[in-house]
Amino acid sequence: MNFSSKLLENAVAEFAKLPGVGQKTALRLVLHLLNQDKQDVEQFSKAISKLRNEIQFCSVCHNISDQSVCEICSSHKRDHSLICVVEDTRDVMAIENTNQYNGIYHVLGGLISPMDGIGPSDLQVDTLVERLKANETKEIIFALSATMEGDTTLFYLHKRVKSFNITISTIARGIAFGGELEYVDEITLGRSIATRVPYENSLTK
Ligand SMILES: [Zn+2]
Repeated sequence: MNFSSKLLENAVAEFAKLPGVGQKTALRLVLHLLNQDKQDVEQFSKAISKLRNEIQFCSVCHNISDQSVCEICSSHKRDHSLICVVEDTRDVMAIENTNQYNGIYHVLGGLISPMDGIGPSDLQVDTLVERLKANETKEIIFALSATMEGDTTLFYLHKRVKSFNITISTIARGIAFGGELEYVDEITLGRSIATRVPYENSLTK
């Protein structure tokens, strides 16, 4: 692409770094911003730099948070004996939207994927084990995507936690949901949490 302005080229190059955004889309977005009020664009860039600079990860569950301990972990209304293990913050949002889960979470920060060079040490696995050692947990629910990475992670995590005297469940995965949790509709996801099964049973599906 030949640009008439270096400023334009730089901005397009930055947008094109975003996932799923090619040069053409990047150019369209940048031109759109040029048509906005300067104030609005200022607000847009402020929101992004504030997001990156000020966001925190909950020191308990590792979910994205504005405080060092997130609202869910610090709530007395939640059942702290129930931990739902998910891949990332999108899954927490999806499960929260079902309004059917009252426990707390543990956000792994990804899934084990040897193809992408992501191993257990890249994820919040040790901190999960540490949480279980605190002896407050009665049940752990694995709510991971029904993909190869999800299954690999589930298998590994089960090995790590099976020695604890707790119930280990997985969300009902027999229902045809297309892989990624975040795309599952709320009713299906809510139901699959309510009808969760012991991990062992899930292996003989
Ligand atoms: Zn938290």
